[in-house]
Formats: sequence, C-alpha cells, structure tokens
Amino acid sequence: MKAAVHRYASALLDLVYPRHCEICQKSLESERQGAARWLCNECLDKLPRIEAPFCKICGEPYEGSMTGEFQCGNCADLKLHFEFAVSTCRARDAVRLLVHRFKYQRRLDLRGVLASLLAEVLDDPRLAVLDRTMWTLVPVPLHHARERERQFNQAWELCRELSRSTGFPALKGLRRVRPTTAQASLSRHQRIENLRGAFAMDRSVLKKNALRGGSVLLVDDVLTTGSTTSECARILRREGGVEKVVVITVARG
Ligand SMILES: [Zn+2]
Ligand SMILES: [Zn+2]
Repeated sequence: MKAAVHRYASALLDLVYPRHCEICQKSLESERQGAARWLCNECLDKLPRIEAPFCKICGEPYEGSMTGEFQCGNCADLKLHFEFAVSTCRARDAVRLLVHRFKYQRRLDLRGVLASLLAEVLDDPRLAVLDRTMWTLVPVPLHHARERERQFNQAWELCRELSRSTGFPALKGLRRVRPTTAQASLSRHQRIENLRGAFAMDRSVLKKNALRGGSVLLVDDVLTTGSTTSECARILRREGGVEKVVVITVARG
C-alpha cells in the first residue's frame, strides 16, 4: 500500500515537473522505473558497470581476458574481515558525477538512482540466494561532526532506499567514535593504523543483541581499498557477534 502511494505520488510529480536525464539533460518520459527514472537509455548503457572477471574477494575488476574466478594481488596478502565485496560500477564517468552531486552538493534526490544501481549487486549469484530475513543492511558510519557538516550519511540514505525496495531490514549498527584523517594519501599500512579504534558497535544495538548470530550487508557508496569496510566488519563480528559480513557498494574506486 505504502509503495503504491509512493509510486502514485512520484508519477504525479513527474507529470507536473517533467524529468530530465541527470547526465545529458534529455527529457525523459514518465513511468520509467529504477535508475531509468534519472537516466536516459544511452547514459544508462554507458555506465561503467563492473563485469566478470573481478576479484572474488575485493571485487576489483580485472582488465583483460581471464576465465574463472581469481583473487587479485591487492588483497591476496591482506587480511580482510568481510567475506567478499561487490560493487555495481567503477567510480568514474557518470557514476563519479552522480556520487559527487549526491554527497557534496547535497542532492539527496539522487539516492534513488544510486540505490537502484546498488540493488544490481543483489543479482550476483552469491547474493541472489540470500534469505532476506537473516540479513540486515548496515551503513558504514560517519563521524557525527562530519555527518553534521554534510547533514546526512550517504551510506544510511542508500540503506533506507534499498530496504524499501528489497525488504531487507536496515539498522545503524556501528558508530564512528573517532574522526579519521583522509585516507587517500596514506599507504595501506598507514590506513590500517589510522582506522584503529575508529569504530564501535552502537550501544543499543549491542544491548539488544540485535545483530548477534545474523549476517550483515555492509553498505557504502564507494569502496576504495577495502580497509575501512574491513575494519567495520571486524567490529561487527568481534563485538557484535555477527556471523558473516558482505560489503556492497555502488562504486569501486
Ligand atoms: Zn542521458
Ligand atoms: Zn582483491
């Protein structure tokens, strides 16, 4: 019922304010669904989607021909605390633009297109079989100072949208207790050091044992090296008693 009202309201809005492609501005007919509500067919086709082969652990795509599964050099010698990570697109071209507008220009309306793209990871054969009652969507948390500045946590907005369309429950299971310096300029070893003690379980989630024994889809907009999500996965498992953590992101940096 709620979904039907939501659909009706957005169809009505489309009628009053005709939609345009977020990338090329071409006008869009109403009644388009999913990511196609924001993007024309040409721009949709041009999205840098990640296709096999990609690393079975960190999702890093392999440029070139390769048959079967492989594990990349990036994570072969790295202890990652999640089962595996999977992303829909590379973080470039239109996807980079959409994420940038969403996060830094406070275009909250773009969470719909990004969550629609994120939902595509659920077609991965390893995720298509998930029991939706056993898995909870948990966002990578922002430090409260950063969240105040940005006015929202992009990962939580994606969780909520995805929860609405898939029925997976969403829960803020983690808190970022210490702000961290920007990771981009750091080596892999420094990144791990930089993240130590940065995350903790949310107290009320912990008290209710809300995630104990269950499995988590850890959500973020972009995955770069996987060190942040790995640290989150470590806390979820060690302190929250979570059995399995799988990382899903819209983009792979
Ligand atoms: Zn377009
Ligand atoms: Zn890898």
